[in-house]
Amino acid sequence: MSEIIMCDMQNLWNDETARECTTPLAMRAWTSRLLGRDRDLVLYGGGNTSWKTTDTLYVKSTGSDLSTVSESDFTALHLAALRSLLDDPALDNAAVMRSIEGCKLDANAPKPSIETLLHAVIPKPWIEHAHADAILAVANVESCVETCAEVFGELAPVVPYRHSGAALARACKAVYETLATENTIGLILAFHGVVAFGRDARESYGNLLRLVNLAESWLKNRGAWQLPEDHVAANAASAEALRERISAVAGFPLSVLIDRSPLAMAWARRPDLAEVATQGPPTPQHAIYTKRLPLIGDDVEGYTSRYRLILERELGAEARLVDATPRIALDPGLGICILGVNPHYAAVAAEIYQHGMAIMTRAAAHGRYRAASLSDISLAELEYGGFERRVLSKLTP
Ligand SMILES: [Zn+2]
Repeated sequence: MSEIIMCDMQNLWNDETARECTTPLAMRAWTSRLLGRDRDLVLYGGGNTSWKTTDTLYVKSTGSDLSTVSESDFTALHLAALRSLLDDPALDNAAVMRSIEGCKLDANAPKPSIETLLHAVIPKPWIEHAHADAILAVANVESCVETCAEVFGELAPVVPYRHSGAALARACKAVYETLATENTIGLILAFHGVVAFGRDARESYGNLLRLVNLAESWLKNRGAWQLPEDHVAANAASAEALRERISAVAGFPLSVLIDRSPLAMAWARRPDLAEVATQGPPTPQHAIYTKRLPLIGDDVEGYTSRYRLILERELGAEARLVDATPRIALDPGLGICILGVNPHYAAVAAEIYQHGMAIMTRAAAHGRYRAASLSDISLAELEYGGFERRVLSKLTP
């Protein structure tokens, strides 16, 4: 008989605030902000939400953040037109994604989320999508399908990894149509995140928390929740030298942060670091801030030339749009060095890597940690990235 352990994830629903939401879109914006408020559920633009009527989908626009989203950040689209895009075998992924713009009710509305089609194909009025830490810590293992079947069962069947957009939407549709039962409240997106849905705002939000709490509780029961700490003293002196070397290879100045916390030291000194830390980030979105892999040791030039070769092989001519120098450097004496094109993005990468580190540690405590493929993550770096180029273009007049 398994032990029952209470979970930390709080349901932030409040009847009084709910009554103040006089329209479904106001309600949609409010419960989206509830999700966005919790850093273990949503980080920096990760995740998206929607509400639909029988003929219109209102989905979060790309670039808006769930923690601050408002009604005007939701874009209205023709639901039937969106669904028919996936039925046309003549349209490839890129063509489908281009055609989404033509489904907007108002051509001037903001660009809808990259996951718009996923929201369109699931026949539920309220949908939440997040890259929740606890879900990834359960699912991101070699035995993803078996483990998720044990933890979530028919509550949330597993969708195999597919690239965001048409491919992922088609996979979600297929899994929903073949495996969903009357008890199903969501889908687990392997190596990516989770989707939850419901008949109303409260149920949908509550269903997402229910899946996350199930994951957390299972990890605690398995002894896979507690993160190890190492109180060894770190040598901070070499961080500036490393920053200068990485900046020289990159060709532009990078900012650095050092994490020498007991959690960071335990991670940087793991005996199996070369295995666990080199599979890739828990969800492809993290890679745009942290790169696919950390630098382990100090061979900056070797790391960069290998990364550049991989990007060129995977992305062809567009590889030049992605910088190949590391953003995370791990060293058993130093801890974790986090780099960014400015102090803000170094802090973003630091926070994202802290969550990634916790997910990888917990996954490796119950299985073999795994991530999306090298091709998929390279593509994500290209498609979701771009902020670094915008920052750098402002530096050079
Ligand atoms: Zn996602």
